[in-house]
Amino acid sequence: MKNTKELRTWLDDLSLDHPLVVAGPCSAETEDQVLKIAHELKDSDVNYFRAGIWKPRTRPGNFEGVGALGLKWLQKVKAETGMKTATEVANAAHVKLALEHDIDLLWIGARSTVSPFIVQEIADALKGTDKIVLVKNPVNPDLALWLGGIERLYSADIKNLGVIHRGFSTYEKTRYRNNPEWQIAIELQNRFPDLPLICDPSHITGKRDMIFEVSQTALDLNFNGLMIETHVDPDNAWSDAAQQVTPDTLIQMMEDLKIRKETDTEAEYRNSLNTLRTQIDVIDHQLIDILGKRMKIADTIGALKKDKNVAVLQSKRWNEILGKMILEGEQNKLSEEFILRVFKAIHQESINHQEKIMNG
Ligand code: PEP
Ligand code: MN
Repeated sequence: MKNTKELRTWLDDLSLDHPLVVAGPCSAETEDQVLKIAHELKDSDVNYFRAGIWKPRTRPGNFEGVGALGLKWLQKVKAETGMKTATEVANAAHVKLALEHDIDLLWIGARSTVSPFIVQEIADALKGTDKIVLVKNPVNPDLALWLGGIERLYSADIKNLGVIHRGFSTYEKTRYRNNPEWQIAIELQNRFPDLPLICDPSHITGKRDMIFEVSQTALDLNFNGLMIETHVDPDNAWSDAAQQVTPDTLIQMMEDLKIRKETDTEAEYRNSLNTLRTQIDVIDHQLIDILGKRMKIADTIGALKKDKNVAVLQSKRWNEILGKMILEGEQNKLSEEFILRVFKAIHQESINHQEKIMNG
């Protein structure tokens, strides 16, 4: 992928003065539901109307989508509102039907990106298309799989490409439905600075009241657009009820989000600074999270030591750790003095925790 500038063309051609917005329900449920939502979004900043027709559900027995019938409803959306349309495709048959119904934007879902076989099948079916194709990140935090998806599509001569960041699944419960792991999206952005990058805060958060904050972080990180699930009756949606917002909420959110534009050198400077600061914030959150995890393990060790009546301070082990960390620090351009200070502070906090457990 040598000339990455061509990747931006479709987005530049839209000449938007705001981030790209893709909105609409998680699933197309009925013709009436689809058209109602579309009409409420008609005069907003929404560029593409989304609706899932074929729904990949993690467990069977849930609503699996209305199927090809829904493509007719999307055609009606376009005819009645002028909005372009978007849906997820997960195999060659879906691609064929979506192209026959002139869907403007197709995306590959997170559960498909994990499978190179499926991505290749979709890429072959799409060969040479000028439709916009967006690749969602794989469910698991694996940048290579995401890059592989993009490369397979690009090799199939699909130039109107982009990616959607929808967060990554974790076994541990976090405050997100899918952990954002922003550093993975940032890494992708560094590799392909011209590849349009869209955030899907609905699937990241899983909760409607967190969508605004995640959208703002994405814009601060220079994402090019947002995909937000929107429903006229979110609580009674047939899929992803907790994360859908009403068209009114979406429109208000678009007004309230701070959009950073690159207009002159001063603005560009502030924009870069802001992006870098947001990157630092992301890493700081991770540092706290990881320190918390380390301390939890130290607590467990504390409980073990208490059981066996062993002393809290184990100097030999501690000196080994320090030696290793100083060497690793050097490789990362971190001074010995800095590593000593940081690890002494961490060690002290562990001892304090363990002493509390011993005496508790
Ligand atoms: C969706 O967009 O409705 C969807 C199923 O998303 P994901 O593939 O990100 O889970
Ligand atoms: Mn959904």
